[in-house]
Amino acid sequence: MIRLLSRLLMMFGVLWITAAIARLWSRDHNVSVASVGRLVETQLRKAAKIAGSGVPMLIESYGVPNARSDGSRILYNPKWVASIVRRYRRNPRCSEALVMGAMAHELSHFFSEDGSDALQHSVDCELKADGWAGYVLGRRKLPRKDFERIIDDLSLVCGEVGAPTDLRAHAIRSGYREGLGMI
Ligand SMILES: [Zn+2]
Repeated sequence: MIRLLSRLLMMFGVLWITAAIARLWSRDHNVSVASVGRLVETQLRKAAKIAGSGVPMLIESYGVPNARSDGSRILYNPKWVASIVRRYRRNPRCSEALVMGAMAHELSHFFSEDGSDALQHSVDCELKADGWAGYVLGRRKLPRKDFERIIDDLSLVCGEVGAPTDLRAHAIRSGYREGLGMI
């Protein structure tokens, strides 16, 4: 009888530990679409506040690789944002910075040029958007280096236009220094 009880207890213990590990794993790896939406919206609002502008309509879209302005709305891919949150789950300030940088970049496109499709933006416009993104990160005192890095890694936001990565990184750094009040 005692043997049976100890076996049952052992089985219960094993099950409990397995469930606890599964809970921890899912907390780390599952990023809900709702939490992603809240993160993107919050960062867009903060960037718009720094710009002294209104907040454009924000649309969730699986049809864009990362984020894009189509002139009347800002679109973002929740899968892309979730991948950032997962990648930087140990450092939420980094994921905040990346999403903030992407939203600030798109906000710049939204309010500049003719607001046409992002793929048509000129190199100058890209660099301006990057500079603005850097400025916002500086103002918020958020980390900058990872944002520079993902521009290369993921051809972040409108990278198709072919603005050289080193120029984009330079634009981000200049904007960042300005945001920190160093220029
Ligand atoms: Zn762009």
